[in-house]
Amino acid sequence: MLKTVGGGVVAATVGAAFPATFASAVSRSAISESPITEGWASQAVTPRAAAFNPADVRLLEGPFRQAQERDGRYLLQLEPDRLLHNFRLNAGLTPKAAVYGGWESAEPWVNIRCHGHTLGHYLSACSLMFASTGDQGFKRRSDYMVMELRDCQDAGKSGIVCAFPDGEAPLHDIMDATGFVGVPWYTMHKIFAGLRDAYLYTNNRMALDVLVKLSDWAIAHTQKLSDEQFQRMLDTEHGGMNEVLADVYALTHEPRYLTLAERFCHRALLDPLAQTRDTLDGLHSNTQIPKVIGFNRLYELTGQADYRTASSFFWRTVVDNRTFATGGNADREHFFPPADFFQHLGSAKTMETCCTHNMLRLTRMLFALNPTADYADYYERALYNSILASQDPDSGMMTYFQPTRPGYLKLYCTPTDSFWCCTGTGMENHAKYGDSIYFHEANILYVNLFIPSTLAWREKGLTITQTTRFPEQDTTRLQLTCQKPVNLTLNVRHPSWCQAVTITVNGRRWATSRQPGKYVEVNRLWRTGDIIEVHLPMVLRTEPLPGHSDVVAILYGPIVLAGRLGRKGLTPGADIIVNERTYGDVLNDEVDVPRLLGDEQEIVKQIKPSAGSALTFHTMGIGGIGGIGHPHDVNLMPYYRIAHERYNLYWKVVKPGSRAKSVMPDSLIAG
Ligand SMILES: [Zn+2]
Repeated sequence: MLKTVGGGVVAATVGAAFPATFASAVSRSAISESPITEGWASQAVTPRAAAFNPADVRLLEGPFRQAQERDGRYLLQLEPDRLLHNFRLNAGLTPKAAVYGGWESAEPWVNIRCHGHTLGHYLSACSLMFASTGDQGFKRRSDYMVMELRDCQDAGKSGIVCAFPDGEAPLHDIMDATGFVGVPWYTMHKIFAGLRDAYLYTNNRMALDVLVKLSDWAIAHTQKLSDEQFQRMLDTEHGGMNEVLADVYALTHEPRYLTLAERFCHRALLDPLAQTRDTLDGLHSNTQIPKVIGFNRLYELTGQADYRTASSFFWRTVVDNRTFATGGNADREHFFPPADFFQHLGSAKTMETCCTHNMLRLTRMLFALNPTADYADYYERALYNSILASQDPDSGMMTYFQPTRPGYLKLYCTPTDSFWCCTGTGMENHAKYGDSIYFHEANILYVNLFIPSTLAWREKGLTITQTTRFPEQDTTRLQLTCQKPVNLTLNVRHPSWCQAVTITVNGRRWATSRQPGKYVEVNRLWRTGDIIEVHLPMVLRTEPLPGHSDVVAILYGPIVLAGRLGRKGLTPGADIIVNERTYGDVLNDEVDVPRLLGDEQEIVKQIKPSAGSALTFHTMGIGGIGGIGHPHDVNLMPYYRIAHERYNLYWKVVKPGSRAKSVMPDSLIAG
């Protein structure tokens, strides 16, 4: 079976052909002593731009690096043997440590059959963290998990490794459509993806071997299904099985994995999207996004236009019509009719963090195919306001939902008793902040994000150091070190939120761009010591809730500001919860949420910077007069920074003299 991956052909195309998802993770890598030699199956489509090897980008001091470090501490605190407990049991081996709680073993989650999903995420996260930091401690963990999975696979004999309490039964049940429970393929996808990432990011050949055997198990056991039966099975959430099997094909060049990847494409979603029809109302958001990532991956491998139409249309309709100001989407995990945004504001179960995680994965793939600034604009928006916002700055734990309910707060998982889906994607989120700051084309370097970092562009003999306190300041500075003078174009993103960007090179004005949402091209012969400074003035502005001009979020540059509403009823630690289903049922103390009096222009003029801390503001005399409750002015700070405190994200704008009483209908405040 493994002869298929032993070709030994040096992959000349690896960099260009890599999907942006993990672009060039193995190409000319600092990671590997022995390069991965198989390369990808020849792709039908080569993305125009590629990301850099994560080992070539390092974060420098700033909020992202701090988040990465907190995540790293959490990863090292978890015990692999506990994650492996059920895998060993199912293989007939003695577990080495007790199983973890939450979704890994406990009621009320046993029937979702997510046992073992955390191991997959953990394997991805440790592998990514190794690539992003070079810290061997993460590689040792990744290696250990892979070796253990190999042992389980060998001992189990059938090829599968899984942690369901009833072994492989949930997979047989769902394939036979006989009284199955939970989302077994969703869970299996995480294990597949963890093995893929261990291979790509740590060059662990054993991980690929285990992955290939696992994929063969999947082929053997799905072969009996008719296409109709297969599609019925896909009515149940199955993660990104189509994507990861497409990757197995790309790694092995074996068409049978491509065939299975295409069988795992859910026609009920693919067909309407390929006809640019949005049928998303009522669908489970995080079930759909990974399928679409798979469609896009299959476009790269097959060139079939339907896949491409589907993925770009999906992105466009979700981002334009179904997304909150922070970049998150959905309520109670489901897409709702875009006309209904207002009804959903009162929910404590809006904006599941996994959905944003997966939208960002899709975004960077689409950017690679068509490098335009609107993808990078969304990426920035969601990265600060959803992903950075999702981590507790004290404990390092992660949000599940990010509630829009006025006066509610962020709730975080526990370290060892929750293991939600968002705990898993959360482990990965903070391990890969470096993966989308820069992209490259032949002679073009895209600077998409203003995050302090260093980049080594090995092919060009070029090192770039980006120094900035953005968004606390509105400038960034790129300093170049070149082995020899190099001619190339720096494409600096002119964000859509910024009216005019000014760029200086070595202190002299190069250009002022007045085209938001485009790139500013800086083309010249670069030499060591050259310095590019980018000035990105930020202003306060409001942004309406889709379809509701009188309900607005307040932003400063790309940063969504949240109103600070105090800590009523909140004792230390009360916002760390075991059960994600209790969002909205706990900590429901009523707080007054001011409305904003005036029109949008006046409101913005009456928001003033606060002394002492960057990016903090306060309203002056627009916190409402009369009406119910106790209207008051309000202090604002970045949503990404707010923690352990009640907040408000969207504000009802009330024209002076209007009789509207409250920021939200009372029924919504009550939830
Ligand atoms: Zn989730």
